[in-house]
Amino acid sequence: MSVALRILDDGAWLSVNDQRRVSVSELWRLNAPDFCSCELVDFIAEGFTDVSADGRDVAVTTYGECIACGESGVPGRLPVGRIRHGEYVGYDRQNMVIEPIETRLRN
Ligand SMILES: [Zn+2]
Repeated sequence: MSVALRILDDGAWLSVNDQRRVSVSELWRLNAPDFCSCELVDFIAEGFTDVSADGRDVAVTTYGECIACGESGVPGRLPVGRIRHGEYVGYDRQNMVIEPIETRLRN
């Protein structure tokens, strides 16, 4: 069973099976020490450029800004949910620390 993952509206939405599931303007807490010098990044997502599913996570390549220090850019591929039994299950993004896939792979 395949799941259709697409970025819509010039990067404003992640669509899963033609349903809009993740939008920019969410505030996320990141463990992304390469992004800025804050211990945890208070990250406001401004746009999605790509989406991937690696068997464990659905991850969006996201650009945005740390609202604490003003650093902006792309911290990496950020996991936002996963595919379970062919269904998308979104993570509780407001209440977790999101670690970019790149950072996780290095640790
Ligand atoms: Zn910062």
